[in-house]
Amino acid sequence: MNRKIRSVAILGGGPAASVLATLLVRAGLRVAIFHVPKIQPLTVGESLVPAVVLYIRLLGVEDEVRSFSQFKPGATVNLNERVDFHIKFADIRGPMPTYAYNVPRDKFDVTVLNAARKAGVKVFEFAAKVEKIPGTDKIKLADETIAAAENYFDGQPDMIVDATGRIRMLPKLLGIGAREGGRKDTALFAHVDKAYIKHEGHIHTTRIDHGLSWRIPLPGKVSVGIVIAPEHLAKFGATKEERYDNLLKQDSVLAEATKGATRLTPVVEHLNYQLVSERLYGENWALVGDTAGFIDPVFSSGLFLSMQGATWLAKTILNGSDRAYEKYQRDCLHHLGCWQEIVKGFYDGRLFNTIYFGEKMEKKYWWIRAMSPWYRNHFGKIFSGALSNSDFSIGMMRWVADYSAKRENHELLRIR
Ligand SMILES: Cc1cc2nc3c(=O)[nH]c(=O)nc-3n(C[C@H](O)[C@H](O)[C@H](O)COP(=O)(O)OP(=O)(O)OC[C@H]3O[C@@H](n4cnc5c(N)ncnc54)[C@H](O)[C@@H]3O)c2cc1C
Repeated sequence: MNRKIRSVAILGGGPAASVLATLLVRAGLRVAIFHVPKIQPLTVGESLVPAVVLYIRLLGVEDEVRSFSQFKPGATVNLNERVDFHIKFADIRGPMPTYAYNVPRDKFDVTVLNAARKAGVKVFEFAAKVEKIPGTDKIKLADETIAAAENYFDGQPDMIVDATGRIRMLPKLLGIGAREGGRKDTALFAHVDKAYIKHEGHIHTTRIDHGLSWRIPLPGKVSVGIVIAPEHLAKFGATKEERYDNLLKQDSVLAEATKGATRLTPVVEHLNYQLVSERLYGENWALVGDTAGFIDPVFSSGLFLSMQGATWLAKTILNGSDRAYEKYQRDCLHHLGCWQEIVKGFYDGRLFNTIYFGEKMEKKYWWIRAMSPWYRNHFGKIFSGALSNSDFSIGMMRWVADYSAKRENHELLRIR
């Protein structure tokens, strides 16, 4: 089948929707976003990888994003005395930008949505009601939504895209299955006035007594997040505020890193954050961004996956063939799978065991010293987003992780 799409309704107006809508409207389609802003006081997704800079440039908003963001030249990972690792994006060879940003998400989301508006996308500030068309794989906007949108599409849009993030409006309506991740951690986060930042602008990811923590420097404040299993979390109090504040005081690593810090915001809690939809498109609908799939964001991959997926879906909609839709689904699921593997290696300690083991071997063998810059460059390119969906790079990382795990106890680096 070849779908000739002239009009598209997008549900949700986050970064994935903004990129998709902008690209489609630039190609001459009639596009509207139905958007209801997030209600939580803070939005997660504040640390970007260098690949996201490409999408900010695509929208023409890099100067604006830079004006309210923290320049991010690299990332630091501290697991214990074995692994205190940092990477500078400028040291990674290749075509990717040599930096990224840490962004206050409220401002970032407004900026990218405004870019879509300026490009000619119509933004309705209300939620669309969507219905199944019985006996088909099709959906439609409810009559009341068509009326509230003043018949913007002159009838029904040719295509409806769900970009509602982890709300997953269409998968719920259509009963689309999803694969969950292995861990059932809770994330708590808030902004504090200060925290220890070893490398300016870096996200700092640290193993704590139970679980892990992120510290993301933002202009004038630091986002501190805690990812922890529910059975440990329960020991720290009854409310999320109590638990967060107590963890900052009682966890041995956090107490040191946030000594004297004052919390500036309410605490936000996230419960489920690994879910990959089994189908990403149907006859007149598609899923993009977190709605298509989201994985544990320990390596700040969320916005990259969402915005990249949006560019892939734009190409697919403009192409219209079944093959293009099949490829869209395959590519998205493949890329999500790659990050899932990387993330798993982080939690079970095997990923950074390669760095520890490699450093030990470098001291012993000249040929490991000779290979090391090449491996480190690949490693960096995976995390910058340049090679995160490369079978070769992921396969090589897997091989090195397996080899290292046979020779060095990776359990010492496991996230408890
Ligand atoms: C704990 C945690 C930490 C994270 N940290 C990072 C990080 O450091 N870096 C990173 O890149 N990613 C991170 N992420 C992931 C990142 O937040 C998401 O991948 C990203 O926001 C997805 O973008 P999106 O456009 O697909 O969805 P969203 O950003 O969720 O946008 C969807 C929009 O749709 C709106 N909406 C919802 N329902 C409706 C409806 N029915 N009608 C109309 N509008 C609706 C919502 O209000 C929202 O504005 C993190 C996620 C979690 C859970």
